[in-house]
Amino acid sequence: MDNKKRIALITGASRGIGRSIAIRLAKAGHKIAINYNSHKNDAIEVLNNIKSYGSEGIIVKADVSKRDEVEFMIKNVEENLGPIEILYNNAGIISDSLLMRLKIEEFDRVIDTNLKGTFYCTKFCLNNMIKNRWGRIINISSVVGLRGNVGQSNYAASKAGIHAFTKSVAKEVATRNITVNVVAPGYISTATTDVLTEKQKKSVMAWIPMQRFGEPDEIAPLATFLSTEEARYITGAIMRVDGGMAI
Ligand code: NDP
Repeated sequence: MDNKKRIALITGASRGIGRSIAIRLAKAGHKIAINYNSHKNDAIEVLNNIKSYGSEGIIVKADVSKRDEVEFMIKNVEENLGPIEILYNNAGIISDSLLMRLKIEEFDRVIDTNLKGTFYCTKFCLNNMIKNRWGRIINISSVVGLRGNVGQSNYAASKAGIHAFTKSVAKEVATRNITVNVVAPGYISTATTDVLTEKQKKSVMAWIPMQRFGEPDEIAPLATFLSTEEARYITGAIMRVDGGMAI
């Protein structure tokens, strides 16, 4: 067992899955950088929660689709907490539309946030991980990146891109004790799925053998295990947590 306290950055940790991961890591005693973009009060609530477990943390605002903001955020975290050892690329958005109606800007916005955001954060955290010969990178994608979905060509492409990115970087850094993995959730009850109508939820249910949506707390256990020393021989893996949806 490795009880070392590490420094972790979680993008999009103000709400949903990222929030759940942040709290679970804090319970293990790690120092947490909580990234948010627009919901500062939610990020402060997560920070207070983290502190109640006796853990240390900071909130850091950055739009992950913007290179300069990501560079500034990572510098800020490293100055205040120390070199980032665990990175969760969790921040993500949807902007659904059938391809015929999909605006070019909405394709770009989803790719820039989900895929390019993952690229920027990984690139700018990697230097110190390589120098320190230890690192854990966990990318949150989606089963939609494996299966595709009507009305989600932009989102599916961004998440499938994360899969190929993960496998490539995993190969590049494998000899440095740095692992890079994907957790691919199915439908999880968060703000992302709150927008679905009852009719949409019912039709989605037909694809899920477990006949229910998951909860953020059902993603966090695997996601946090992948950041441990014990997970050292797992890299380049894409792990579904989806109630059997993509079987
Ligand atoms: P939520 O909508 O609940 O939260 C999204 C988080 O991402 C927020 O903290 C938000 O910050 C942050 N965020 C959004 N855009 C940016 C940006 N440009 N820069 C920085 N942060 C940003 O999302 P979920 O918890 O549902 O989703 C988390 C991840 O899980 C996403 O990558 C999503 O694609 C993936 N996922 C979710 C599924 C689901 O059913 N919920 C299914 C499969 C995958 P703020 O609010 O401060 O702007």
